[in-house]
Amino acid sequence: MKKKLKNVIERIRKAAEISGRDPETIRLVAVTKTVSVDRVAEAIDAGVTILGENYIQEAREKVTALSSYPVSWHFIGHLQTNKSKYVVKFADLIHSVDSLKLAQSIDKQAKKINKIQKILIQVNIGEENSKSGISVQNARDLIKEMSTLQNLSIKGLMILPPFFNNPEKVRPYFVEIRNLRDRLKKENIPNVSMNELSMGMTGDFEVAIEEGATLVRIGTAIFGERN
Ligand SMILES: *Cc1c(COP(=O)(O)O)cnc(C)c1O
Repeated sequence: MKKKLKNVIERIRKAAEISGRDPETIRLVAVTKTVSVDRVAEAIDAGVTILGENYIQEAREKVTALSSYPVSWHFIGHLQTNKSKYVVKFADLIHSVDSLKLAQSIDKQAKKINKIQKILIQVNIGEENSKSGISVQNARDLIKEMSTLQNLSIKGLMILPPFFNNPEKVRPYFVEIRNLRDRLKKENIPNVSMNELSMGMTGDFEVAIEEGATLVRIGTAIFGERN
């Protein structure tokens, strides 16, 4: 696993270099769904600093078990409104905010614990029924509404694009979301910074970096195939 991690870090560096970007501007989120606590600990020892979890119950167990480790927890999975109270307790960044109702609920729970919760807005870039996320068309209005919530800080966008075996086929989606991010950034909406683009997984992270990813979410390339 240490070797795999090193290899991923090297590939991130190379992809950054090819596209004239500073590798320091790309952060690796190690995706640990279904990975045991021991192996997550091993990854932290090997240098991982951000962990991405998809499921609340699994995340809470790992956060407790690994509380002595200096890591940052990101939540990247679909979030039900009634789980907001749990996620604000451990997540430094929630990648997957996909509705106004969810944003309001996270805001309310963050307020209770006196926290400004950093979030990304998930956009359903491929307009797939099977995936969550707001539509490109609604993004501007929804983000403006969310930006008025006092205990949220909107940092950027996240996508889970349609799956293709060939990462080049995903490139247009990465370009489209970057363009949307740039348009939103120009609006200078108060309380919205739009610097982050969470995109790129094991199969396509190099292309995502070439197109501007600032957070790549990688599981399989580090931990191997999931069961
Ligand atoms: C599982 C998952 C990943 C990581 O996928 P890999 O192909 O294993 O790298 C990234 N993002 C989300 C939202 C995921 O659910």
